[in-house]
Amino acid sequence: MKIRVVTMFPEYFEGPLDVSIVGRAIEDGILEVELIDLREHGLGKHKQLDDTPFGGGPGMVMRIEPLAGVLEPLENTHRVLFTPSGHPMKQETLDRWAALEEITFVCGRYEGVDQRVIDHFIDEETSLGDYVLAGGEVAAAAAIEGIARLLPGVVGNPDSTVFESFRDGLLEEPVYTRPAEFRGWKVPEILLSGDHARIEAWRKEQRLQRTRERRPDLLDGLPSDN
Ligand code: SAM
Repeated sequence: MKIRVVTMFPEYFEGPLDVSIVGRAIEDGILEVELIDLREHGLGKHKQLDDTPFGGGPGMVMRIEPLAGVLEPLENTHRVLFTPSGHPMKQETLDRWAALEEITFVCGRYEGVDQRVIDHFIDEETSLGDYVLAGGEVAAAAAIEGIARLLPGVVGNPDSTVFESFRDGLLEEPVYTRPAEFRGWKVPEILLSGDHARIEAWRKEQRLQRTRERRPDLLDGLPSDN
């Protein structure tokens, strides 16, 4: 799979693309990431990318010409703009993106992007969450990592991307490993029982309880047998 990232700060990605799962996916040729430096497409000798907003107001807005110059030739890719005004990025969003052959992420800065960029050169607007960051790079890095671990051959045991939070609409249950006791803090007995049916029932109950407490909104969309 190929991911393009349009950013004013390509150097931001030096860490996230080098380590762990993403680093390995790139090294193994499963994932290709191309960083496009928006500054190179800036206007005039100062490579200007932003301007004051029409109608007044604080901050600066990203101009259309540099982004059009980059995005227009990329017609055959799915073009995503990261913005707090977008649809929330969920596991199903990443599943959908990971099934594509290529995708382009556009990272905003300043107060945002001239609306005509969105109207003519963007296919989808996506938000990392209900808060405002300084730029879209964090969202792009999160999406790249979330996609990389879904690509065949990247995660050693493919089951680990199936049995985890959000896959059955619930948060994951608590997990434990050795030692069975530390400072008197014991692992729940049932996990040591070897009774797989009871363990599975316990896990399901824990997933439900956690989800009820922390994310009751997730339960709304579930079939009633949960
Ligand atoms: N004025 C904008 C607003 O109120 O929605 C916020 C602009 S923010 C300071 C600058 C850029 O950071 C945005 O254009 C976007 O690309 C990125 N950004 C900030 N928060 C984000 C979020 N929660 N999800 C995705 N991108 C975000």
